[in-house]
Amino acid sequence: MPVKGKNYWLETVTTPPVPSARDLPDSIDVAIVGGGFFGLSAARALAKHGVNVAVFEAETLGWGASSRNGGMVLTGMKLPVPALIRRYGSEAVRKMYAASLDTIDCVEQLVREENIDCNFSRCGHLEVACKQSHFDGYEESAALIQREFHHELRVIPKSELPAEIGSDIYFGGMVDESSAGLNPARYVAGLSYAAQRAGACLHEHTRVTAIERERNNAARKFRLRTSKGAVAAREVILASGAYTSEATPALRKKIIPIGSYIIATEILPADLARELSPRNRMIYDSKHFLYYYRLTPDNRVLFGGRAAFFPETESTVRRSAEILRRGMIEVYPQLRDTKVEFAWGGTLDFTLDVMPHAGMIDGMYFAAGFAGHGVAAATWFGAKLAGLVCGEPHDIPFTNIKFSSAPFGLRSGHTWALPLAGAWYRLLDFLT
Ligand SMILES: Cc1cc2nc3c(=O)[nH]c(=O)nc-3n(C[C@H](O)[C@H](O)[C@H](O)COP(=O)(O)OP(=O)(O)OC[C@H]3O[C@@H](n4cnc5c(N)ncnc54)[C@H](O)[C@@H]3O)c2cc1C
Repeated sequence: MPVKGKNYWLETVTTPPVPSARDLPDSIDVAIVGGGFFGLSAARALAKHGVNVAVFEAETLGWGASSRNGGMVLTGMKLPVPALIRRYGSEAVRKMYAASLDTIDCVEQLVREENIDCNFSRCGHLEVACKQSHFDGYEESAALIQREFHHELRVIPKSELPAEIGSDIYFGGMVDESSAGLNPARYVAGLSYAAQRAGACLHEHTRVTAIERERNNAARKFRLRTSKGAVAAREVILASGAYTSEATPALRKKIIPIGSYIIATEILPADLARELSPRNRMIYDSKHFLYYYRLTPDNRVLFGGRAAFFPETESTVRRSAEILRRGMIEVYPQLRDTKVEFAWGGTLDFTLDVMPHAGMIDGMYFAAGFAGHGVAAATWFGAKLAGLVCGEPHDIPFTNIKFSSAPFGLRSGHTWALPLAGAWYRLLDFLT
């Protein structure tokens, strides 16, 4: 399927990129490895505290998942609440859920404070049930979330679904009005400017290749080797997400990098766009191997999914675009003759327990495992870890959960078993 371009979002960025800092400093207070939502949010917050901070990004700022995602700013966590409560107990999950709601406020506040032109809108999200049994669980789930967290979700029976979505393949839905949507490439560009304005030094095309511990020197605990020279730092924040490399082996072996792919159609007539998504929600379905989709501000359908489990290459993007187009037409037969103009892929950071984790690893700060919730979560964790570095009280409810290594074969750099994981999730979707 020939397409016009790769990442649609990048075509919409109108501001020039933030000029990269030129000279590498000899020494800094805090070095941040990775210039996505997480690293830039941490850099902005630290610089606002007056900390001398530098971001080292191997490619360009926002190059990773942060400019490639669906732009869904979602409430909740990846795992269903009943499963979370069984695993961690109500008390702990109450704090986690509150944090997940806070992540969206955090993005909204940042966008407003920094005046970032990224189409942020509290449009809500809609989860659609692919099977009757999935829909049957919605009432119980909404009641549990209301009871435990005082957060309201609205269950939509099939008869009322046409007011939410122009597709009749689903068995009902559930709406959360608190979720939001934005344009991620514009958001990460705005975040780069915000971090720089606050005083952070942003170094593009500067890959961190190794980090060594300097014993007996509290002011310069770490020595970072980069593609442009060496830097000493008092603290390090690892913000390299699914692209975490051999420079930080302890974190790398805990991350499961999973490919996700997106297509974007040509611009649709306004009445067709309204028919497909009357309330302009962020939409995803109830499968493990799920589809997620939405309208863009200029009325394209942006349709994504884990069409292949492998991280992106030219060939996985091409094959995934075909699979996603077929999926899109199953959902929206109205788009049978619509052209697909863009197709791209990116890599998400999953962890073995499908939870976000944060804290210290090898003496360095880290957060990872944002999965499909990283637009809001990465921004929030960035601000929170900056607070920890500055000695603020610790209130992150994800630091005490066990962070296991990924099984060999699913780890970053050794992902030969990912197709098996994909097959397992397809089987679960068939059975449950
Ligand atoms: C296709 C796709 C769709 C998604 N959709 C959504 C969605 O709709 N909603 C949602 O909430 N989340 C979504 N996500 C997830 C979300 O995009 C991520 O969780 C989030 O962007 C993670 O941000 P980050 O800053 O942690 O990582 P990234 O944005 O991936 O940034 C990490 C950066 O670190 C750099 N790096 C790595 N190693 C080094 C090194 N050694 N030296 C220097 N730099 C290094 C990389 O170049 C990269 O730029 C999606 C992800 C993908 C791929």
